[in-house]
Amino acid sequence: MTQFYEQVKERMIRYAKVDTQSSNHSKTVPTTMKQFDLARMLYEELKQIGCSDVWLDEEKCVVYGKIKANAEGKPLGLVAHMDTAPDASGANVKPWVLENYDGGDIVLNKEQNIFMKAGDYDNLSMYIGQDLILTDGTTLLGGDDKASISAIMTFAEYVIAHSEIKHGLISIAFTPDEEVGGLARDLDLERFESPVAYTLDGDHLGYYEDETFNASQANIHLKGISVHTGTAKGIMKNAVDIGTEFLSRLPKYEKPQYTDGREGFYHAVSFSATCETGEIVMIIRDHDALHFAQREDYLRKVTEALQNEYGKECIELEIVPTYRSMKEVIDQVPWMMDNLIEAIKACGIKAQSLAFRGGTDGSALSQRGLPSPNLSAGYENAHGRFEYVPVQSMEKNVEILLKLAEICARG
Ligand SMILES: [Zn+2]
Repeated sequence: MTQFYEQVKERMIRYAKVDTQSSNHSKTVPTTMKQFDLARMLYEELKQIGCSDVWLDEEKCVVYGKIKANAEGKPLGLVAHMDTAPDASGANVKPWVLENYDGGDIVLNKEQNIFMKAGDYDNLSMYIGQDLILTDGTTLLGGDDKASISAIMTFAEYVIAHSEIKHGLISIAFTPDEEVGGLARDLDLERFESPVAYTLDGDHLGYYEDETFNASQANIHLKGISVHTGTAKGIMKNAVDIGTEFLSRLPKYEKPQYTDGREGFYHAVSFSATCETGEIVMIIRDHDALHFAQREDYLRKVTEALQNEYGKECIELEIVPTYRSMKEVIDQVPWMMDNLIEAIKACGIKAQSLAFRGGTDGSALSQRGLPSPNLSAGYENAHGRFEYVPVQSMEKNVEILLKLAEICARG
């Protein structure tokens, strides 16, 4: 047990109790005003531990803090999100600690008979002997991403209290609405100051991501000609048929349910049509930029072929970019990944990377010119009632951040 144990535990429990669930149905910024409850708490705490330039954006709900450089060296930016996923309730979270986990089933709620069965969750076996922060089985925990906020805050407090630790500029930001596609849109890069950042978000301690999907949405507009079915021969064009044909020309096994790892896909999100009119909404995903472009091209070709067959006005394709993989941006600052991997290893943890099958705030931030790879937060079973965080994983993340600051200070 390190000196950080009690601090990360206390923080995680305190933050978890603040309901910060974001919403997919809201058009406000942030999507839910209750995220300000945690934002204000973090604002006060950053000031209290002695950060400089502490600022809360009262409009956009972003919290900033800095630790000024006391040595030459590379800057270190850290970003974590305050909201929790809409998938499970974030109200009345009742976190508790199971010490020295024995590897068996866990009773989350005796009254309501809610158990977490060891056999259902392989990840539990990694944490035998550790101390798990759990829920009462009726809400999520919010370790995603409050485990990161706990680690960052504990790291910052320690660095400020120990002036003998040499470091470059350290910039910290806590953002809203990650879970509902906020993409850290309102992070003010000028105020943040550090030209690079690590987001901390993700499960399994020691994992990192420098690659995400490239992503776009395709809207296929269909237009038919409806006439009485008895006299339709040679006249009718059925938008239902045209749409069905479009979908049938997509490669059968290049779909989410048949792919993993670095395999990309097409996914039909919705298809609605009558004889007269219709629309298909699809998403396209691929890690590889070239393959991604080829996928978009393929949709163009299928559209063209159907236009030749049915008439140009019958089918129209519109492609809207969603986000780009962070990889091309991060590859231009190779020291970021070198330093991160060195820091993880120096803390006695295996550094493992995943080509993330989704997008992160870091993909959007990288696109905006702030290279932002991701370091795992260490939570497990996120977005659900069986979410938990091993205290030891948060402790380790504090150590990794300290190492990272030290390595960055080498220049
Ligand atoms: Zn998250």
